[in-house]
Amino acid sequence: MTAKRVIVLHDERLANSAEPSLLQLTDLKPVVADGLLADQLGRQLHDLRISVTDRCNFRCSYCMPKEVFNKDYPYLPHSSLLTFEEITRLANVFMSHGVRKIRLTGGEPLLRKNIEILIEQLAALRTQDGGKLDLTLTTNGSLLAKKAVALKAAGLQRVTVSLDGLDDAVFRSMNDVDFPVADVLAGIEAARQAGLGLDKQGHFSGIKINMVVKRGTNAEQILPMARHFRGTGMVLRFIEYMDVGATNGWRMDDVLPSAEVIKLIQSEMPLVQLEPSQAGETAQRWGYADAMGKHDPSLGEIGVISSVTQAFCSDCNRARLSTEGKLYLCLFASQGYDFRPLLRESSVSDKANDSTITTALAHIWRGRNDRYSELRSTMPADKTSATISGKRVEMSYIGG
Ligand code: SAM
Ligand code: SF4
Ligand code: SF4
Repeated sequence: MTAKRVIVLHDERLANSAEPSLLQLTDLKPVVADGLLADQLGRQLHDLRISVTDRCNFRCSYCMPKEVFNKDYPYLPHSSLLTFEEITRLANVFMSHGVRKIRLTGGEPLLRKNIEILIEQLAALRTQDGGKLDLTLTTNGSLLAKKAVALKAAGLQRVTVSLDGLDDAVFRSMNDVDFPVADVLAGIEAARQAGLGLDKQGHFSGIKINMVVKRGTNAEQILPMARHFRGTGMVLRFIEYMDVGATNGWRMDDVLPSAEVIKLIQSEMPLVQLEPSQAGETAQRWGYADAMGKHDPSLGEIGVISSVTQAFCSDCNRARLSTEGKLYLCLFASQGYDFRPLLRESSVSDKANDSTITTALAHIWRGRNDRYSELRSTMPADKTSATISGKRVEMSYIGG
């Protein structure tokens, strides 16, 4: 074994430290993957989110505020990004440990050149029990009209489109690059026509629409959005504005709790709560009700993601891979595990090296005890974020 067989722990808090911390791979007991990998809190690895670029053509103030993400911002050079082969190779190791669902994200994933090729490669992988991967992607929708057909042909099954309102002025001001809402709506329509997210019953339940709700900014868009997507088969999900990263100037006062969103929609369109469709689901599901107060599937459902007011860490089974190959165990982490040197010290066909990566991942996930949102809810409002986890990485870098 050489001195190279370590994983560097990249820590935002120690960014200027001369001595990075290391995880010694030489001392680790080899692990053979059996598809069942649980962390300290018994949470089994199931989902992987991969950020394929740290760049974006929008400047949503809650994610990449213009003042910070300007032309002087140190975006990653192309040579730092994992290649498609490196991503696929790592994904395969994650799947051997039980990952069944992969979401491509960013930054804006459709800005990554030839993303369809990566989708093709990932779609060809098989899970530990020989099944197909649940492969999806989150996008701001700006390039979807152009790319929907190619994405579907490459093997993408589902898609989530972010849309923070239907009013053009509100939408333009939220994306902060004056991007028109009509173009995103055209992208959603293109996704529908391409057959993305179509289920066996002919519903487009695999097209999800994410709306981040900020009090005082787009709360008046909640009802128009609900009316627009009701009965379309698409699932609209309302996300509480979160304190991710270190640049969005988050304040608790700007969070509109999901309970208020539900109450508002109920006042016009009756809802009934639905069971989660799978363990570890981030959204609480609500179905539109018929005159008898029963869920009417033809009217569809909505979801609320209450990361601030109702933490769901106890079910969190997601790992996140940054654009340059660092593994993060929590959206609010300040520390990541750098897999890129391990990938680059050997070729794709080097199976011995794959087993080192398999072992490293097992030890890292088994040591996981992150539960930031649960801890946040026990803290006074003025002492959140940095108090618990130190300086955190940005969402555009590790992916939402
Ligand atoms: N650019 C793509 C998009 O916007 O869909 C993918 C990346 S984006 C980081 C992924 C998701 O994170 C989006 O739905 C976005 O609205 C959400 N998001 C970003 N910042 C957020 C914040 N501070 N609170 C809640 N959700 C946020
Ligand atoms: Fe870009 Fe998505 Fe972040 Fe908006 S939320 S700035 S579209 S990465
Ligand atoms: Fe998962 Fe971290 Fe979010 Fe909790 S705070 S749900 S552990 S990503």
